[in-house]
Amino acid sequence: MAWDFETDRAFAEQLEWVDAFVREEVEPLDHVLREPFDKTDEVANAIVQPLQHLVRERGLWAAHLGPELGGSGYGQVHLALLNEILGRSRWAPSVFGCQAPDSGNAEILAHFGTPEQRARYLQPLLDGRISSCYSMTEPQAGADPTLFRASARLDGDEWVLRGEKWFSTNARYASFFLVMAITDPDAGPYERASMFIVPAGTPGLEIVRNVALGHEAPELGAHGYVRYDDVRIPADHLLGQRGRAFAIAQTRLGGGRIHHAMRTIAMARRVFDAMCERALSRQVRSGPLASLGVVQEQIADSWIEIEQFRLLVLRTAWLIDKHNDYRRVRRDIAAVKVAMPKVLHDISRRALHLHGALGISNEMNFVEMLVAAELLGLADGPTEVHRVTIAREVLKDHRAVETLFPSDHLPTLREAATRRFADRLGGGGLGGGGLGGLDDGVASAQA
Ligand SMILES: Cc1cc2nc3c(=O)[nH]c(=O)nc-3n(C[C@H](O)[C@H](O)[C@H](O)COP(=O)(O)OP(=O)(O)OC[C@H]3O[C@@H](n4cnc5c(N)ncnc54)[C@H](O)[C@@H]3O)c2cc1C
Repeated sequence: MAWDFETDRAFAEQLEWVDAFVREEVEPLDHVLREPFDKTDEVANAIVQPLQHLVRERGLWAAHLGPELGGSGYGQVHLALLNEILGRSRWAPSVFGCQAPDSGNAEILAHFGTPEQRARYLQPLLDGRISSCYSMTEPQAGADPTLFRASARLDGDEWVLRGEKWFSTNARYASFFLVMAITDPDAGPYERASMFIVPAGTPGLEIVRNVALGHEAPELGAHGYVRYDDVRIPADHLLGQRGRAFAIAQTRLGGGRIHHAMRTIAMARRVFDAMCERALSRQVRSGPLASLGVVQEQIADSWIEIEQFRLLVLRTAWLIDKHNDYRRVRRDIAAVKVAMPKVLHDISRRALHLHGALGISNEMNFVEMLVAAELLGLADGPTEVHRVTIAREVLKDHRAVETLFPSDHLPTLREAATRRFADRLGGGGLGGGGLGGLDDGVASAQA
């Protein structure tokens, strides 16, 4: 009977350490340091590197990758338990070496990279010395690879890339870009593109502008609108096999989606804690806000929604560990992806509202959380697309009936059961008027 909600003792002790370490040592950094991905910030490096050293000593560095891929991985369930603490803080994932989008980029370099590619790009990324960028979405195509136009052609011993990419996160801080480009336009829609490693500073690579999110100062924009204008890279900078970019992307995005969800639990809990504190602290005429039924309802609903979501995330993490293949857990990852923005949005909105004007001001983080909820519903593919995936996967386990009435049609079932037990019922049983008086006279279409 392997069905257990307990965390093993050794890891539970690690988590206790992580929780205290993040609250006391890491969260304050969010208020004084700028951008975790800017590795040229010497002030930040001097503060953060000793903390990273402590994490390494505890064996918790790069926990998203297994030891065979260069990390200290404990599997996805343990990673979920870790990330649901790290997600509280902007800096914590970088202090633990498992920050997106580098974590996903490291994952595909580890899986598909040659020894030379791993040494040159993966190792410094795992060491936390550089940042990286994943450059797939195109301005006219969203993330639908069948509509991509960016292309790459082989010219002697070089690939020549041409095209535009949109919302390439951290382009301005990245030492290299993982770029999806069409190499085989006549192949099937999912075999046309290949993945390339483009070092930053390669001639022809231009960041047209750095786009900021709605609430961010324009100068902090980190989502690159990137142009590749006859960018030449060595032939050995093809990542994985030619024509396999779509499959590589799925490996990356599968992990990316569930890891965002793990961190979202932390964000939702943090907002929820603020909401409970406010409900107990703020007085209205009849007492604290918490004494009002409408507020109790919001607290109850929020708690249920977080716990439901957390169970879905942990179960999905467990399935990934079990199958070790994202494709076999596609339905569940898509479900987590769909649930994630809604949980964070609904709880943040309630928390914001309970804080009144303070809640919508920039003195609390609820507006940021609302924007985060929206971006989680867009990044790695919009919610609608994932709903389609869930429905398609779910329907694979179901069949159409060829009979006039459904297989769960009560009169049909009753008739079959009556026939089966006829010798023992002897005229008794529920008969025609049983089961709420349903009419058994309806003709059965099912044998
Ligand atoms: C914060 C953030 C970070 C990102 N980081 C990266 C990154 O690092 N690298 C990268 O390559 N991309 C990145 N993206 C881009 C992201 O993958 C795209 O935003 C996303 O795939 C949607 O594409 P789009 O924005 O062009 O929207 P569109 O494709 O224009 O879609 C707009 C809306 O149309 C609807 N829609 C679109 N397609 C369908 C469909 N098939 N079925 C039903 N409805 C549909 C949905 O409502 C969708 O929200 C990031 C996005 C955000 C918000």
